Amino acid sequence: MARHLQILVVVGLGQCLLLRKGILMAQECELLGSCGFFKKFGSTKELACKGFISQYCKGPMQGQCKRKEYRRKNGTPPADNMMPSGAIMKV
Ligand code: SF4
Repeated sequence: MARHLQILVVVGLGQCLLLRKGILMAQECELLGSCGFFKKFGSTKELACKGFISQYCKGPMQGQCKRKEYRRKNGTPPADNMMPSGAIMKV
């Protein structure tokens, strides 16, 4: 697993613990219901995807999501396998 993904997973898991303890407020992206990435990978058990979802889709980095940026610039959503970081996931 790439180093940045490992860091993201560790941070995501740490944040989940804080959420469980009520230290952080949960926040969800307003595009959650229509996002292809979330629809496709939202229930995955894969740790990297879970890290992205906890950090971006349901976490504090959703304002930095490259999928949102793409949609804003192009008027259409990106491919479902584009991750919130902007990298393309090989499936
Ligand atoms: S991938 Fe980006 S646009 Fe999609 S639900 Fe997560 S934060 Fe929102």
